[in-house]
Amino acid sequence: MYPTHSVICLDAITHNFLRFKTLLNGSVPVPVIKSDAYGHGAVKVAQTLEAAGATRFAVFRVEEAMILREAGISTPIWVLLGALPEEIPTALGQNLTLACWSLDIARELNAQAAKRHVLQNIHLKIDTGMGRLGFLPEQIPDVLPQLLAMDNLRLTGAFSHMAKADDPLHPVTVRQPAAFLKALSFLPQSCAERHLSATPAIARHVLPELPFARPGIGIYGISPEKDLDLGLRPAMTLVSKIISLKDLPKGYTISYNCTVQLQRDSRIGVVPIGYSSGLPRALTNRAKGIVRGKIVPNLGTICMDMTMFDLTDVPDAQAGDEIVLMGRQGEQEISAWELASLANTIPYELICAIGATQPREYR
Ligand SMILES: *Cc1c(COP(=O)(O)O)cnc(C)c1O
Repeated sequence: MYPTHSVICLDAITHNFLRFKTLLNGSVPVPVIKSDAYGHGAVKVAQTLEAAGATRFAVFRVEEAMILREAGISTPIWVLLGALPEEIPTALGQNLTLACWSLDIARELNAQAAKRHVLQNIHLKIDTGMGRLGFLPEQIPDVLPQLLAMDNLRLTGAFSHMAKADDPLHPVTVRQPAAFLKALSFLPQSCAERHLSATPAIARHVLPELPFARPGIGIYGISPEKDLDLGLRPAMTLVSKIISLKDLPKGYTISYNCTVQLQRDSRIGVVPIGYSSGLPRALTNRAKGIVRGKIVPNLGTICMDMTMFDLTDVPDAQAGDEIVLMGRQGEQEISAWELASLANTIPYELICAIGATQPREYR
């Protein structure tokens, strides 16, 4: 295997799922495995979570659900985007539950479901403050009877999504759960799959009485807030190898744009990872690695496929040594939050970029 790849610990994913069962105390965690399970590999993650007792999954779009179906995953899947008009023929009859946020699409879905003699489950998507997809709460009294009159659609649930759940005092955070409860009060009992919380809202105990919640990032062991310990275990490690080590004299410059001039005679390690493999160029002169249990700093601009590290203080380092760019090695850890903060982004973006580009090794 190419030295640069991610290592995925499936036991950590099981641990995190069970941890959510505890945290949710009765409401059902529906793991969100969109974006190829946040870069962890959706099929493997789904198989692992099925074995751990997951009874439903959530993905973003129909194609993601179809990949799971083709891999033999039969657990019900909620599609958070729903089906776009062009996806309806694929989506029908696959035991999917489709988000519904447009009457036009709902009519088309109903017509095609009728033609195929199938009943299609839908969840009403309500926009309580995200300003993205969904009916506004005040539209519900008008929309609801129209949806209920579509004979081939079954309204089995309703949901909304929090914009800023990590900030309990923000006016939008205060407003959203109340608006959601109000909207729910219009819905029939049969519309029973009600859910609001993603990981940040689960951590902040928003409407714990709802029967379902949608943890995503936490399933992969990353806390929704930098300094919050939910007892989760990170599942992804980003590793590579030092492929070249060489001694360069004080005064030498390293990498494009000569951003770094060596302040001492140095030993420079070259690692075949760069911004094409999920290590953001914004981490230039900020990235770190762990080699032989010691933290080593990146020196010089991160290139497309290579990055240099200062190995001067690890005198026993050798070409071929493993370097961890994110995750744990020995006593040291570079957390996804730490790396994301250094890159001015969030862990979500990092792990998606790593997942989209890196081969995976499962342990
Ligand atoms: C991505 C997503 C989630 C999961 O969010 P996390 O913050 O990763 O837990 C839940 N619900 C919706 C609608 C989403 O788009």
